[in-house]
Amino acid sequence: MAFSNFYPIGFISSCYKEKFGIPRQPNLVPAATAQLILNKEFGEESIRGLEGFSHLWINFIFHKTQEQGWKTMVRPPRLGGNKKVGVFASRSTFRPNPLGLSVVALLDCEVTARKVILHLGGCDLLDGTPVLDIKPYLPYVDNIPEAKGGFANEEPKVLHEVLFSEGAKSQCAMAEKRLTRIQNGQKGGGWQVKQLIIQILQLDPRPSYQKQEKSDRIYAMKLYDFDLRWQYLDDNKIKVLELIIRG
Ligand code: SAM
Repeated sequence: MAFSNFYPIGFISSCYKEKFGIPRQPNLVPAATAQLILNKEFGEESIRGLEGFSHLWINFIFHKTQEQGWKTMVRPPRLGGNKKVGVFASRSTFRPNPLGLSVVALLDCEVTARKVILHLGGCDLLDGTPVLDIKPYLPYVDNIPEAKGGFANEEPKVLHEVLFSEGAKSQCAMAEKRLTRIQNGQKGGGWQVKQLIIQILQLDPRPSYQKQEKSDRIYAMKLYDFDLRWQYLDDNKIKVLELIIRG
């Protein structure tokens, strides 16, 4: 039987420059912004009417993990990383067809002479993610208040208080100014670097097995144009140490 060949309609430009630290679902970190830049063939007409929707479904390819294949059973972080469920009972990135599905906020539609850019909020998407399709979120069908969430019924708990060193506080303010300047008057600014860091770290991005460890280890992740470094303290506190601009 012949099926269509799929191809990306555009690519994501996101604050998340590596996998580590990305929330495990969309909307857990509302301050995470991204742009979906549509390929040239998709002009203004292809999104006409979209501006009336507050949220979108994004169909995308897990391009960074697709080479690693898949397994019939996976260990979801929600179950502490030690119980297995079937791949189709999970939102694992390692799937027979490496397709992801995220509902995200549509903040703005920007149409220039050369391209169409959709400004998105609350993304869980890596920079460079290829997007296969967009569909408007329809509250009357897509919102099911009585739906059951299986082993992931509850929202993830915020377990940590995030503190900032004096240096990190001023580096956050500088990063916001710098990003606004780089953005150079284009739409979709509103950088909230400190808020973004709090929202990411309070969910504790460490893999389950590291959460049991007590260590002075310094963790790092790449966000926008800087490396974020932090440490776990006692009493569920996290200290942001510094934001270092990448060379
Ligand atoms: N909401 C989507 C879904 O349910 O299909 C994604 C869920 S998946 C558990 C979320 C994780 O996918 C993120 O934490 C990030 O590590 C990973 N991810 C995001 N974009 C990716 C990409 N392009 N390639 C590989 N992994 C990616």
